[in-house]
Amino acid sequence: MSTASDQSGSSRFPSAVYGDRLERAAAIAGKSGLDGLLITPGPDLQYMLGSRAQSYERLTCLVVPASGAKPTVVVPKLELAGLADSAAAELGLELRDWVDGQDVYAVVAELLGGARAAVAEAMPALHLIPLADTLGSLPVLATGVLRELRMVKDTSEIDALRRAGQAIDRVHARMAEWLRSGRTEAEVAADIDRAIVEEGHTHAEFIIVGSGPNGANPHHEVSDRVIEPGDIVVIDIGGPVAPGYNSDSTRTYAIGSSPQGPVATQYEALQRAQQAAVAAVRPGVTAEEIDAAARDLLVAEGLGEYFVHRTGHGIGLSVHEEPYIVSGNDIVLAPGMAFSVEPGIYFRGDWGARIEDIVVVTDDGCEPMNTRPHELVVLPG
Ligand code: ZN
Ligand code: ZN
Repeated sequence: MSTASDQSGSSRFPSAVYGDRLERAAAIAGKSGLDGLLITPGPDLQYMLGSRAQSYERLTCLVVPASGAKPTVVVPKLELAGLADSAAAELGLELRDWVDGQDVYAVVAELLGGARAAVAEAMPALHLIPLADTLGSLPVLATGVLRELRMVKDTSEIDALRRAGQAIDRVHARMAEWLRSGRTEAEVAADIDRAIVEEGHTHAEFIIVGSGPNGANPHHEVSDRVIEPGDIVVIDIGGPVAPGYNSDSTRTYAIGSSPQGPVATQYEALQRAQQAAVAAVRPGVTAEEIDAAARDLLVAEGLGEYFVHRTGHGIGLSVHEEPYIVSGNDIVLAPGMAFSVEPGIYFRGDWGARIEDIVVVTDDGCEPMNTRPHELVVLPG
């Protein structure tokens, strides 16, 4: 049985949340000069309807007319069960089932009531091409239309991100159970994988254990390298909690002893850079200004060339989504936007460090979803 709160992966928010999103999406589509949205299975359908239906060769498609007419879900008769746990029934949406031999694209065109459509980017070409033929015009991507909706999280989404942040913080708090010298990165990662689920995630989406020189490669995941006393270790972990919102947090650990000299000084500069970027987050500031807050500090410390990636990325139903916290992105931050702040420094062949929190923009600043200490955490060797 599926309910709004089960742990099977079919869980979703109360139906009213989706009703509100559908109304706002229709209004934005209208403002954009479109006749409506055509949303096939994928993250956009999960956002609009709480449905994790899969895409097959037979078309399933949520039709959201810009006119304000009630949305309809077009679905193959034999796949009706796949929508049972979505919000469609509770919202009173019409389910228009179809069988092989029917021209489903003509059905969609008629429900849309025009030729100007925006489609989910997850729509397979298998459906897009015949649909464009039927409409007589090539649809645009709904990604841009839905951007302002998906980027600004509502209270139920922020609550889910908060639960995700607390869950991954509990995993970091347990790190001494697994991370010590003599063990391989892969062994440590296997233990973290289990803990991520124990602490409330549906599953682990990614686990990076970068020890010693491996920590200097931001793309490193895990290896059979044996962790040594004195290693600096980057641990970047996350995954979704019901109903699908992701955690993503990095902390850097020292094995056995607290480093002295340049490592200590450079880590301390990284910590100040991360803090400066978090402190800069508030409505009205641009995404690139947050990037600059971290970067300028590291440049001033002579560490600019070792910070080789953007400062952060938006997060929600996807681990990486808009807004991207990167130079050149002049998008203005608004309350409800959620993203990572994760500067790092990487010394090739030697060591690396990264500190990452998810923050949500509030009316006058931000609320961090992660609250573990930011210092280099020294674990017994
Ligand atoms: Zn991360
Ligand atoms: Zn991240």
